[in-house]
Amino acid sequence: MLAFLGRGSAFSDENNSAYFKHGNDMILVDCPMSAFRRIKKMDLEGIANIYILVTHTHGDHIGGIAMLIDYEFFVRHTPVTVIAPDRTVEDDLRFYLSRLEGCSDNWYTLTNAGEFSAPWLNAVIPTLHAEQLAGRCFGYSLTVDGTPVVYTGDTHIIEPFLPYLKPGTTLYMEISAHKSGVHLYAPDCLDLIRDLVTKGIRVYLMHLDEEDIISEMTKDTGALLAPTADNITTEDHNMNTTDPILNEIYDISDKLYNEMCSNKENDHATLFKYLTELGKTIVGADRASFWKWDKRNNTLWTQSATGVDKIVIPDNTGLVGKALKLGDVVVTNDPYNDPDFNSAVDKKTGYVTKSVLVLPVADVYGQFIGAFQLINKLNDEDGFDEVEDTHKLSLPALILGIALESETFLEDSHHDKLTKLKNRMGFYSDFSRRFNSYMSPDATKPLSMFICDIDKFKRVNDTYGHNAGDDVLAFMAKLMTEACVDKYYAYRWGGEEFIMIMPDTDLMGAVEVAENLRKTVEAADFPADGQTIHCTVSFGCAVFDKDKTIEENVSTADGHLYTAKETGRNRVIYE
Ligand code: GH3
Ligand code: MG
Ligand code: MG
Repeated sequence: MLAFLGRGSAFSDENNSAYFKHGNDMILVDCPMSAFRRIKKMDLEGIANIYILVTHTHGDHIGGIAMLIDYEFFVRHTPVTVIAPDRTVEDDLRFYLSRLEGCSDNWYTLTNAGEFSAPWLNAVIPTLHAEQLAGRCFGYSLTVDGTPVVYTGDTHIIEPFLPYLKPGTTLYMEISAHKSGVHLYAPDCLDLIRDLVTKGIRVYLMHLDEEDIISEMTKDTGALLAPTADNITTEDHNMNTTDPILNEIYDISDKLYNEMCSNKENDHATLFKYLTELGKTIVGADRASFWKWDKRNNTLWTQSATGVDKIVIPDNTGLVGKALKLGDVVVTNDPYNDPDFNSAVDKKTGYVTKSVLVLPVADVYGQFIGAFQLINKLNDEDGFDEVEDTHKLSLPALILGIALESETFLEDSHHDKLTKLKNRMGFYSDFSRRFNSYMSPDATKPLSMFICDIDKFKRVNDTYGHNAGDDVLAFMAKLMTEACVDKYYAYRWGGEEFIMIMPDTDLMGAVEVAENLRKTVEAADFPADGQTIHCTVSFGCAVFDKDKTIEENVSTADGHLYTAKETGRNRVIYE
């Protein structure tokens, strides 16, 4: 994410400017003199290019650009590219740099966002700031570390940025405690910030004129102050490079924590995604994936992966299979010469794998259940270091193992082994996640159900044995699933009773589904422990009544089922 060299506004000591890195490039967002002084003290070893994204040309935003250009040209020799938001600002900058600052134009590259392309630059967002700079003030839509970022620059309106704010976006928003008409005035923004945070947008406040006041004012909005790169000191000419990584790590874990504690629906996929991202960031890999070992089906599949779609492979294959078989870390820094490396994905996508680390993960009983795979160590030609990188990965790998175990356990507890249908726990879980909206007072679409029960099932067990009974139940579940036609949901309610939930279906629609299934069952040959038998089923249908609880609604349908049994079985009753 962005690291701030200071989060103050023009008049403060800690003048604003932010940077991020992309591969070997460093991108500065504006470059005031205060930022230049700090950048000079950073260890920029390995930085191939410096880019400066300009939002507008107030002195506090560009003052340091010329100094940085000078410094890089005469002292450090890293190429500097200045990117203006558009051609007008580009022309302004050409004037300022050549005449006001006296930089020669072969010391740097000057371009504009329209003619420049980079994976981290998505769009320029025109906005309004000081009247005198009308038409010359911009924010940016960026991608930083794979995350969409919106950076407002200095602005007194937020509207131009709103269309770019989707859940998962990080917004860096300027804000002021003093009302000026040229900045976003904090008291006017509180509701908006709260709303954005609720929608899953991460809001960082920057360019603060009064940090304490703003901090106090926004403390219950969910916004955070822009993170500063505190590690740059005036005595120390070497920036402690672990700090930005630590910041990123804290950022990801904080995002995960907030995501999981938010009121919205989360599943294990969110956990896998962030933990995979965390591992990738900690070791500095280009890609990461987390694999589940599906021992029942003898496959390995990606639960979460960056850069690739879901992959399923037979277990025992590839480096992930090898690591799981060995129960140990596998490192390959020359994969194309490794017989265990499967280059199929590379061949298909054109990606070049240079180094791989696979760390198997275990459940709480120490049984290996999945693996964490990191691909292409960044900024290190030698590739992964087995000892050091495994050491760094241990915490996310541990949590991934526990998360995977809990997902498997939850899945299992919601399913019935015999029929493979969801069970009563699965029914209640689905209800709260999927069907509850049909029960709200303003819901307009109907939700229907039937409960059905195999007729004289005890006789099947008694005549053909319990195994035959099991076969009949499994076959009944299959007929139920087919009757769902990908629109409805079937559950084993208990014993030989099943429930089907039919969203957007009225009572007569549900009766039709039940009647069709009744006929199918009646005509079907049920397997029964090597023999073939016939069965019938009775049904009770009902449409959900919003004023009743789930149990009361099931009870209504159950009452009709009882009537069906009472009046001769093999029938559908609905009132
Ligand atoms: P009715 O038409 O009134 O529903 O009669 P029924 O015989 O189907 O009903 P009853 O409730 O008397 O018997 C249900 C039987 O289902 C009793 C129980 O042993 C059997 N059953 C419940 N679960 C299973 C199971 O998982 N496998 C087998 N084989 N039988 C089961
Ligand atoms: Mg029965
Ligand atoms: Mg029964």
